[in-house]
Amino acid sequence: MKLLSYFRGEAFQRGVHPPGCKHTAEAPIRRLPFAPRLTVPLSQHIGKPSRPIVRVGEEVLRGQPIAEADGWLSVPQHAPATGVVEAIELRPSARGSWAESIVIRVYEASTQEVLWGAPQDIDAFPPQDIVLAVQRTGMVGLGGAAFPSHAKLTVPQGAKVETLVVNGCECEPYLTCDHRLMVERAADLMAGIRYAMRATGAGRAIVGVEDNKPEAAETLRRVLPPQGDIFVEKVPTKYPQGSEKMLITALFGVEVPSGKLPLSLGMVVNNVGTLAALGKLLPVGQGLIERVVTITGPGVARPGNYLVPLGTPLSFVLDYAGAQTQARQVILGGPMMGQAVASLDVPVTKGVSGVLVFRGEDMAGREGRKTYPCIKCGECVESCPMGLNPSMLGMLAARREYDLMGSQYHLGDCFECGCCTYTCPSNIPLVQQFRVAKQILREKAAA
Ligand code: SF4
Ligand code: SF4
Repeated sequence: MKLLSYFRGEAFQRGVHPPGCKHTAEAPIRRLPFAPRLTVPLSQHIGKPSRPIVRVGEEVLRGQPIAEADGWLSVPQHAPATGVVEAIELRPSARGSWAESIVIRVYEASTQEVLWGAPQDIDAFPPQDIVLAVQRTGMVGLGGAAFPSHAKLTVPQGAKVETLVVNGCECEPYLTCDHRLMVERAADLMAGIRYAMRATGAGRAIVGVEDNKPEAAETLRRVLPPQGDIFVEKVPTKYPQGSEKMLITALFGVEVPSGKLPLSLGMVVNNVGTLAALGKLLPVGQGLIERVVTITGPGVARPGNYLVPLGTPLSFVLDYAGAQTQARQVILGGPMMGQAVASLDVPVTKGVSGVLVFRGEDMAGREGRKTYPCIKCGECVESCPMGLNPSMLGMLAARREYDLMGSQYHLGDCFECGCCTYTCPSNIPLVQQFRVAKQILREKAAA
């Protein structure tokens, strides 16, 4: 399939252009110290929760596996610091509910040295062994989806992957962690791309980078391997280009059919953060115990990109970054797709790419905004990248006609990008309504 951006430079249809607010784009990655206690939820991924393999009172080393995968669509968890297991119990999680978690009291003498894992020659591994090695790292999509990476890199029998698409768009306002990874860890990223190409059998890889990150694109181009099968392509900046279907359309001018995966076009999409982490962890046989998080927003005194041990409570992260205590809203992820958290006891998990802090004055005019009836202006329809009718979906949601939303108005194609809510002059919380409707349909299906 030919790359569209080579000759047209066009993006996907519709979408929006929110202010970038990428104030931390120049902020180098800095390491966050250990909090006194780290809380590692057993479910940081889509799929079955992991099974604990340690007991309360047991000492654990930094990097040691503390929970194993429970089946194929599951991943292990590793100790982010050396310490002792203080509890295995329900704790508040970023998803809002309480989740079974392993709580580690960190030894004061714990260092940043990873004390677990053995080097392995990934280059000599056949594809299926690379996939198993990826599962052992506990890797999930670090762009926020948290889908187990080994499952994504597994090519079903009869299918063929031609292209690995590497998502370096980072289209959400405020977030810059992927930008910094591309600039500072380009060699790790190239190694991770090579492993993913070998695992999937892809003959080429295309890194899509939005044109508001020229430094990232140039850095990657400088370290491209001599084989000539990895390419860096700039795509016009537009939200939600970080969605894999939108990026494929921007690069190739084709649409992934409704209800299908990129695999149906011979493609697999992975985020730059995920592949950079795999490039670093796989050769040394270690697990995922930390990730880069953009901590920013008007309520943060020392905004930046921090390498955060997984399980660190948000309260500790915000304290370190100098967040104001009168913060009114804390959002995990970006402002378009992220979720507000109710408790600062929630830990940073594998899918958390950003922590945004807004003060009372930043929320003025937003919080408690009055919702008006739909005026049929069509702005939401104009902005929906999936070509849905959010206005109609919103009306059906208000009438609780959830089945109709799914069967006739393609609710399943909505990936909750928030463009419709962003553009609606009546302040109708469309995407929130769609989340509720989807949840109800999922529960009905499960029952
Ligand atoms: S309907 Fe869904 S996919 Fe379309 S703009 Fe709204 S949130 Fe995005
Ligand atoms: S943008 Fe809002 S007011 Fe306009 S048609 Fe859509 S739901 Fe109605």
